[in-house]
Amino acid sequence: VLFLVGAAGLFLASVSGFIMSRIFLRPAVRSFDQQQRFVADASHELRTPIATLQLHLEMIKARQDEPVSHRRPWIDGMEREVERLTRLTDHLLLLARADAKRVTAQPMKLNVLELVDEVWNASLLAASAKGLSLEMKPTLDEIYDAHLDGDDVAKAMSAYQIQADPERLEQVLTILLDNAIKYTACGSVRISIERERHGMIIAVSDTGIGIRKEQQPFVFDRFFRADQARSGSASGAGLGLSIAHEIVREHGGRLTMKSEHGVGTTFYVILPLTQRVKNRRKESLRQV
Ligand code: ADP
Repeated sequence: VLFLVGAAGLFLASVSGFIMSRIFLRPAVRSFDQQQRFVADASHELRTPIATLQLHLEMIKARQDEPVSHRRPWIDGMEREVERLTRLTDHLLLLARADAKRVTAQPMKLNVLELVDEVWNASLLAASAKGLSLEMKPTLDEIYDAHLDGDDVAKAMSAYQIQADPERLEQVLTILLDNAIKYTACGSVRISIERERHGMIIAVSDTGIGIRKEQQPFVFDRFFRADQARSGSASGAGLGLSIAHEIVREHGGRLTMKSEHGVGTTFYVILPLTQRVKNRRKESLRQV
C-alpha cells in the first residue's frame, strides 16, 4: 500500500510539475528566446549603418588633401546614416520600454481631425513626388463648409475629440502613411476618420503592392519585412508597424489590417474615446 501511495504521489507530483512548468516556465523560456532574437536582429540592423559610416569616414580621410567639394558627398552620406542610426535607436528604445511595461504615453484631450490634417499635410510632398494622390476624408474644409455657423462647426469638431498622446498618435499615423506611400507605385493613398459610438476608427488605405496572405500574420512582428519589401527598392528595418502596434495598444486600442496582394492594403487604428470608455468597452472594440 505504502508503495502504491508513494507511486501515486510521485505520479501526481510529476503531472502537477509538468503543468506548472507549462504555465510558468514556457513563457519565460519563450520570452528569453524572443529577447535573444531581438538582440541579434537589432545588432544586425545597427551593423549596416555603422559599416557605411566607417566606409564614408575612410573615403573622407583618403581625400584629406582634396577640396571640400570632393568630400561633400561622403559627408552628406554620413549625415544620412547618423539620422538613420538615431531613428533606429529611438525605435529600439521605444520597444524596450514597451517590453518593460513602462507606459510612456501621456493622454490628453485632442482633436483627431486636426491631428490627421497635420500628418496629411506633412505627407503631401512625398506623395506628389511619386505621382500619388493623397486623400483625406473628411477634410477640415468639408466640416467648415457643411457647418457654416461657428457653433455648428464647434459641435461637429467635438465629435472628433478623444484622449490620446498627440506625439505618439502622430507617430502611428506617420508610420502608416509613410508605408502606404512607400509601398504604392501608382494610384492613391487615403486616410479616413470615422467616429463610432464608442471609438474612433482611422483607416489608412492604399492601392499598392499589398501583402501576401501567408505573410500577413507577421506584419506586426519586429524586424519583419515581406519578401516583396525586401526585394524592392524601399528601405526599412521592419520596426515601424511593431512600434505603431505598441503605441495603439498603450492607448487601449487596436491596430488591424486587411490586404490583397497586388491590389492594396488598409490599416485600421481603432481607438477608444477615453480611458474610462476603454475599460468598459474593451470587448465591443475588439469586435470592430
Ligand atoms: P519597414 O521598415 O520594412 O517598412 P514596417 O514594420 O513598417 O517596416 O512594415 C513591415 C512590413 O510590412 C514591410 O516591410 C512591408 O513588407 C509590409 N508593409 C507595411 N505596410 C505596407 C503597405 N502599406 N503595403 C504593403 N506592404 C506593407
